[in-house]
Amino acid sequence: KKIVIAIDGHSSCGKSTTAKLVAKEMGYAYIDTGAMYRAVTLYFLENYVDFTNPKKIQQALDNIHITFERNAKTQRNEAFLNGLNVEDEIRKMYISDKVSEVSVIPEVRHALVHQQQKMGKRRGVVMDGRDIGTAVFPDAEVKIFMTADVETRAKRRQQELLEKNEMVPLDAIVENLKKRDLIDSTRKESPLIQAPDAALLDTSYITIDEQVDFVLRKVAE
Ligand code: C5P
Repeated sequence: KKIVIAIDGHSSCGKSTTAKLVAKEMGYAYIDTGAMYRAVTLYFLENYVDFTNPKKIQQALDNIHITFERNAKTQRNEAFLNGLNVEDEIRKMYISDKVSEVSVIPEVRHALVHQQQKMGKRRGVVMDGRDIGTAVFPDAEVKIFMTADVETRAKRRQQELLEKNEMVPLDAIVENLKKRDLIDSTRKESPLIQAPDAALLDTSYITIDEQVDFVLRKVAE
C-alpha cells in the first residue's frame, strides 16, 4: 500500500536531500513544497504584487501555474512557473530573503496547500516543507521533523550557493535562516511546529545515509 511521507523542519537541515533519496528508494514522487512558495515569491517580485492587498494577491495567484518536470540530464525535478524553468532563480538569496513574508499570506497558503493535496491524492509521495504533517497531510503515515544547529545549516547552505556561483557571507546566511525560522514558526496560519506524531531527526552530526536510513526505518515500522 502506498503511503505519504511528510518531512518537515527548519530551513536547510537536509530535508530535500533526504526526501529525494527516500523517494528514489521507494519509487515515489518527490514534491518540494518550498519550491512552490519560492516560485510564488518570484512571481510577486517580478510583477510588483502588493503583499498587503488581498485582492491583488488573489488575482496574482489565479495567474500562477506551478509544475515540476524531470530533467533527464540531471535526474532532478525542476520547478516551472507558468511554463518557464525557474529552478535556479528561486534558489537565489533575494528569494530566500522574501519567501517567508510571502508564505505568511493566508491566500497563498490556501492555494498551495490545495495544489499539494491534489498532487499527493493517490499517495506514493515524499513531500518536504514546513506544514506537511500538520496541515497538508495530517493523516500522513510517516512524519519526520528535521532540525540541526544553525551553524551547520548555514555552512551547508553557503556551499550550495557557492556551487551556483553565489557568494554569501556566513553571517548573512545565519541571519536569513534565523529570520525565516522565526517567521515560519510564529505565523498564524499553519506555523512550523513538530506534529505530535512526528519523529524528531537532528542532522547536526549524522551523515546523509544515516538520515535516509532513519526515515526508511520509520517506513518499515
Ligand atoms: O524549503 P525551503 O527552504 O525552500 O522553503 C522556503 C520557505 O517557504 C520557508 O522558509 C517557508 O517560509 C516557506 N514554506 C512554507 N511551507 C512549506 C514549505 C515552505 O511556508 N510547506
